[in-house]
Amino acid sequence: MPPTGPLHLGHLVGALDNWVRLQDDHECFCVIVDWHALTTDYADTRAIPRFVREMALDWLAVGMDPERSAIFVQSDVKEHAELHLLLSMVVPLPWLERVPTYKEQQEQLRDRDLNTYGFLGYPLLQAADILIYRADAVPVGEDQVPHLELTREIARRFNHLVKPIFPEPKAVLTRSPRLPGTDGRKMSKSYDNAIFLSDRPKQIGKKVDSMLTDPQRTHRPIPGDPSVCPVYATHEVFSDADTVAWAAAGCRSAEIGCRDCKAKLKEAIVERVGPIAERRAEFEASPDTVRDVLANGAERARRAAGYTMEKVRRSLHLGKH
Ligand code: SF4
Repeated sequence: MPPTGPLHLGHLVGALDNWVRLQDDHECFCVIVDWHALTTDYADTRAIPRFVREMALDWLAVGMDPERSAIFVQSDVKEHAELHLLLSMVVPLPWLERVPTYKEQQEQLRDRDLNTYGFLGYPLLQAADILIYRADAVPVGEDQVPHLELTREIARRFNHLVKPIFPEPKAVLTRSPRLPGTDGRKMSKSYDNAIFLSDRPKQIGKKVDSMLTDPQRTHRPIPGDPSVCPVYATHEVFSDADTVAWAAAGCRSAEIGCRDCKAKLKEAIVERVGPIAERRAEFEASPDTVRDVLANGAERARRAAGYTMEKVRRSLHLGKH
């Protein structure tokens, strides 16, 4: 995950909840990919150390367990860069140029010059991040499946041209419920519509109050349609079944108002995020713990990555002179 800002509820239900579960039966490598943040934000990198620290805090607070999983920062494991370089020798340029997000993001981020090798090469760096741990599986959202397919193609090409070293990683599709932001669009920091894991109950309350509802329900006596309401969609993710049924029936019959509906939603979100915020505050009060977690995670990752790189170097006849 690139450290580009604080994590929000979309990250929680779209990725982190799944990662926490995966720890039960997988050996996990969870990496804060700070080099990836440079591919688009290279002109001003001052915020990266803060974002890295915040991300580590968020991960620990939601239940990522450093005893079971390696939690570390990409730039602490230089082997990722070495594998990226060596893979770049065998990967045809058109494979990178045809990645759909390459052109799309260049269009979207017109304020930046993304005509750089780093930006073109980021799916290759991503492939190196995965293949260096000889991963069997990668948890991804559906939109990232094409990226993982590229990683699999790169593994196949290296295995065929050089030596069979890399397993082709499978996609573990994340069950991610639709979670709109406060304005009904996808929750995202850049849309300024996100509820962050670090938000206090008061901030959460204000953000829920500002949420859009069914636009047809302009007055309390008018019945609403929950299926078009972001508040209802968020209830479906965070509230229990009784509350979801109460909101749906009360909205359709106009027995409840949007204010009642939002009050219940605030309770549900605070109940979910409150314990996360408490654990986060505990970790925040102990900066050495976070530093140690990242240092130990990097140590563990370097061991695994070093093992792979020995094989890769040998297969390319490097390092024997
Ligand atoms: Fe949305 Fe709830 Fe208002 Fe219905 S009552 S429009 S579900 S906020």
